[in-house]
Amino acid sequence: MKLSHIKLYPLAIPLIEPIKMSGETITHANTLLVYLKTNTGKEAWGETSAAPLMTGETLGGLLQNAKYLGEHLRGLDITELNSISMVLGKILYGNTSVKSCFEMAIIDLFAQAQDTSVWQILRDLSKNKTQTKPIPLPLLRMLGGSLDKEVADAALYRAQGYRHWKIKVGSLPLAEDLERVSILCDLLAGDIVSADANGAFNLDQAVIFCTAEKTRQLSFVEQAIAAKSTIDDFSLLKSKSHLPIALDESIHDVNEIKYFDQANALDGASLKLIKTGGLVSGLAAALELQRRNLKINLACKVAETSLSAAATASLGFAIDSIPWGFSMSNQYLEFDICAKPLHAENGHLNIEQLNPIGIGVTPEINLVTQAHSKEYSTVLC
Ligand SMILES: [Mg+2]
Repeated sequence: MKLSHIKLYPLAIPLIEPIKMSGETITHANTLLVYLKTNTGKEAWGETSAAPLMTGETLGGLLQNAKYLGEHLRGLDITELNSISMVLGKILYGNTSVKSCFEMAIIDLFAQAQDTSVWQILRDLSKNKTQTKPIPLPLLRMLGGSLDKEVADAALYRAQGYRHWKIKVGSLPLAEDLERVSILCDLLAGDIVSADANGAFNLDQAVIFCTAEKTRQLSFVEQAIAAKSTIDDFSLLKSKSHLPIALDESIHDVNEIKYFDQANALDGASLKLIKTGGLVSGLAAALELQRRNLKINLACKVAETSLSAAATASLGFAIDSIPWGFSMSNQYLEFDICAKPLHAENGHLNIEQLNPIGIGVTPEINLVTQAHSKEYSTVLC
């Protein structure tokens, strides 16, 4: 399978409302699409998003690295699924985000060639022999804005069937976050409610947060302290915490899962394709978590389109169990790039929303054009 045509589309899609995190406020989905065409006329798309505070990538940086990767990939013959990461790694070191974008599209091409779906390919790779249809993935909904808005949204989306929640903490004074969390947990009693500090707390604040009476109903606390903290600090936090500890910014691959688990520093992790470098390594990370009885949250970066959502969901459908929910972030976009965007049905994503062949969704070029970044141009590799 030779790649004969590679095109890059840098997008900036406005969010319905800004999403405030401890280190940044996101107003647009700065995301990059790659379009591939083979010498046999097959077409596929991939996506990756800028995440300056998670992968160090900006949209401009992604575009430049994707251009470099694309120029070297054009004309190459990729014959095996398992060789994709080796082929990409021989061209470019690191840069997991850009690689995930190409890998997603290339696996789509393999799926099309085999007349199957990406999720089925991943299920086969995971040695999951289950013959039944994948179960719906529980979607995680992020709460944000003023407390009044969070309370109203919690009620609104709970009535729509959502049962997994994330409260962003760390940008307000600790006492205020504790109060918010307490009020929202009371409102959402019985649900899977998490708090994500994106590494904003110091160790003392994190211990207070994870042992406070007001947070006792939380199901887990995500990345309470910064990824650059010492392993001793992570272990100490988990030993003192009354709540399960999730890591996000700290976890990129299987080795880091092993490292933190051996130090007894986590109860689970959030996996994103931009961190793992794609679906195959993301699947390996998910299986390592399962082997170690650690919990999984599967997530798109805030915010990505239905394309990345379909790819990430394919991983969830392959492994069948996402106890900490699937953060599908196209739900925060003003508009999507697919004619039928993936959407929540009773708080879940059902397999029927994905087309049975390939990755499951196809961007519409007119919507891609509408979403185009004003800052950067389309690049033909
Ligand atoms: Mg997170």
